[in-house]
Amino acid sequence: MGIESISVAERLARNSYQTDEELSHIAINQELARITGTGKLLVAICPAGVYAEEADGTISAEYAACLECGTCLALAAPGALEWHYPRGGFGIEFREG
Ligand code: SF4
Repeated sequence: MGIESISVAERLARNSYQTDEELSHIAINQELARITGTGKLLVAICPAGVYAEEADGTISAEYAACLECGTCLALAAPGALEWHYPRGGFGIEFREG
């Protein structure tokens, strides 16, 4: 049996998500995100494109798409981002390594 060659995007598309419709696991302190530059940083570094800068300059988070990699939490300025794993039974279900 040969090794299957597929792109990263194709591998990510094989994951499934159990979205917690009642509770986001991501909260942004908009003022601190703006003052510290964390908002623009989040938009730039998230591999899943969870964060977006809105027309009014605020940062939104499409938390359902989160890969739970923790990069945003590691790089955000203190207090600018609240991030925790989704509640049990929710979040991403990896299908590819
Ligand atoms: S944990 Fe990773 S995928 Fe999820 S929002 Fe943060 S950087 Fe994006």
